[in-house]
Amino acid sequence: MSAPHPALFIGHGNPMNTLEDNINSRAWRDWGARLPRPRAILVISAHWETEGLAVTAMPCPRTLHDFSGFPRRLAEFSYPAPGDPDLARRVAELLAPEPVRLDQEWGLDHGAWSILAHLYPTAAIPVMQLSLDRGRDAAAHLALARRLRPLRDEGVLILGSGNVVHNLRRMDWHRGESGFTWAERFNNRVCRQLREHDLAGLCQLDDDDARLAVPTPEHFLPLLYVTAARDAGEYLTLLNDHIEYGAIGMLSAWVGHMKATT
Ligand code: ZN
Repeated sequence: MSAPHPALFIGHGNPMNTLEDNINSRAWRDWGARLPRPRAILVISAHWETEGLAVTAMPCPRTLHDFSGFPRRLAEFSYPAPGDPDLARRVAELLAPEPVRLDQEWGLDHGAWSILAHLYPTAAIPVMQLSLDRGRDAAAHLALARRLRPLRDEGVLILGSGNVVHNLRRMDWHRGESGFTWAERFNNRVCRQLREHDLAGLCQLDDDDARLAVPTPEHFLPLLYVTAARDAGEYLTLLNDHIEYGAIGMLSAWVGHMKATT
C-alpha cells in the first residue's frame, strides 16, 4: 500500500507572489517538484468564508480576482484547472451528517491560485475548494477537518492556504522580513504546538499574542485542516518560517514524507 498523500499548509501572503520570483515563489516551486502528483487537490482557503459548508462542484471553476489595488497583470491572471464534481460529492459524503452545499458559483480564489501557480504551473490537476464555515469555532473546525483524512489515502492533496500570523492593520511595509515581537512569539509557539501535535493548544486563540496575530480567524483556520490530517508519529516539516512586513507569517507545514531534492 502506498503512503498517504502529503498534506500541506502554505502561508500565502501577498497576492503578488503569484507573479514574482522571490523567496516564497521559489520555495513553492521546489515543493511542487517534490510532491507526488495528486489525483486532485482540495484547497481550504482563507478567502472563502460562508454560512454553513460548501464545496466547489463545477467542472470548470473560474479564476476569481477577489482583491483590489493590485496591478492589472494580476487581475488578468488565470488558473484554468478543471474541477471534479464526483470528488466534491465524496467530500460532502465524508463530512456527513453535516450538510454541505455543492457550490456552482465560487471558483478558485487567490488564496488557492497564488500558490497553485507555483506548485502546479500547468493547471492540469483538478482543484476543489472547501469553504470555511463562519459559524464554527477553532475546535469545531478541527473536528470537521479530521473527517477529511481518508482523502489522503485516495491520492488527494489537502492544501490549506492562509497565514499563521495575519494582521493587516499592524503591517509595516518598511520592515521587510522581520516580525514584531508579538508576531515572533506567537509564531514560535505555533511551531512548537505543531511539532508536539498539540491540537488543543492550537485552538487557544484568546490571549494577547493570539489576539494580535489572529485578529480574525480565517487565515489561521486552514492550518487546522492540515494538522488534523496528520497521523500519530507522522513526519511534519516546517518550512518558509519567516515573517514579512512585521505581521504576516509565511510559515508553512508539510505533513507526510518529503522527497529529498534531486
Ligand atoms: Zn490572504
